[in-house]
Amino acid sequence: MRVAVVGAGIAGLSTAWSLSKRGHEVTLFEQAPQIPNPYAASGDQHRIIRRAYGGADGYARTITEAFDAWSELWADLGKQHYAPCGVLGISQTEGDEGEEYREGLDRMASPYELYEAGEAARRYPFIDPATIRYAYLSPEGGALFPARIAADMVRLLRERGVTLREGATVTSIDPETGRIGLADGEAASFDRIVVSSGAWVLKLLPELADVLTTYRTAVAYLDPPEDLKAAWQVAPVIVDVGGTVDGYVLPPVDGTGLKVGAGVHKRPRQPDEEREPRAGEGEQIRDYFAPPFARIAEYRVDRVVTCAYTFTADRKFLSRQIGRVTAVSACSGHGYKFGAAVGRRVAAAVESGDQAGLLRWLRAE
Ligand SMILES: Cc1cc2nc3c(=O)[nH]c(=O)nc-3n(C[C@H](O)[C@H](O)[C@H](O)COP(=O)(O)OP(=O)(O)OC[C@H]3O[C@@H](n4cnc5c(N)ncnc54)[C@H](O)[C@@H]3O)c2cc1C
Repeated sequence: MRVAVVGAGIAGLSTAWSLSKRGHEVTLFEQAPQIPNPYAASGDQHRIIRRAYGGADGYARTITEAFDAWSELWADLGKQHYAPCGVLGISQTEGDEGEEYREGLDRMASPYELYEAGEAARRYPFIDPATIRYAYLSPEGGALFPARIAADMVRLLRERGVTLREGATVTSIDPETGRIGLADGEAASFDRIVVSSGAWVLKLLPELADVLTTYRTAVAYLDPPEDLKAAWQVAPVIVDVGGTVDGYVLPPVDGTGLKVGAGVHKRPRQPDEEREPRAGEGEQIRDYFAPPFARIAEYRVDRVVTCAYTFTADRKFLSRQIGRVTAVSACSGHGYKFGAAVGRRVAAAVESGDQAGLLRWLRAE
């Protein structure tokens, strides 16, 4: 089949990868002049992959398939863009999200080491032990490196004969005929179209506005105090710092930066709105992290990166079949780790037509 994939985030790249392995003729359109688009959700330095999934047991089970799909991709790339540095959770108050993640690990019988506050601060000296109840380390998981993954996938897809169209914005799609139009007036027709255009999807398929909302958020890259740098260098990723901010941390592994982000920082916006960080925004994000971190004011904000992404109301992933179009939105703030698996599943569904099966899997039901 001739298949167009619209959007070269991790979902689109992985779908193109899997479709090409299945022998289809694939054209991948990306609006940014270069892949990855630094303004898209898959363009940042690192993303967390983890067993801990809080109340979402379906995704906790599906994560085994996600690890398997990355292994297949590493084999194809001849390189692993993943630091298995482990995943730490922290609880500050009874029943907070840090605790929910631990309870989820219990339900899945996933192993972890539990540390009381003093022991946690001895192992991770950036933690203020007076502010936490406990911490726990889940050994499986760590950081994936999206920008490096994208760069290598571009090389692999070219080698495999996929047509990559960078700087090509798709402006119209006709789901009945399979015809797509580009911003420069060019048009082409395909047997199937996969729309994996992330936060921009509502521009092409406004009918998905009943289920998807687009948000803007920002993350801060921090320069820690000198005497804590060595501890951060060997730190695990932190899935949740406890309390009420929905905060997570990526350590400076493998040449990346120390990054913090928090769910409370997201606001509904159009994907291209407010993409310049506000004055003082980095310090605002940094300060969400005390507690549980000690001496937070001594962390210098190195840079702030804004990001746009979509959420469903129940935070499950989504697909919808509209004529020849399969629209996929695997985000709600937790989709990167499933990227390679999503690509394999979408490619299989494009081939088989089993849209219901795809949706069931995406919703981890
Ligand atoms: C701050 C932040 C932190 C996150 N942390 C994690 C994490 O730790 N772990 C995790 O698993 N997930 C995480 N996520 C979620 C994860 O990043 C997303 O689920 C994933 O990157 C979505 O990939 P995508 O391919 O669907 O979309 P995107 O990466 O947004 O890609 C869409 C692509 O489509 C292109 N495009 C759009 N419209 C058009 C058009 N009309 N024509 C051509 N091209 C177009 C865009 O330029 C873009 O490159 C996080 C998200 C954010 C924002």
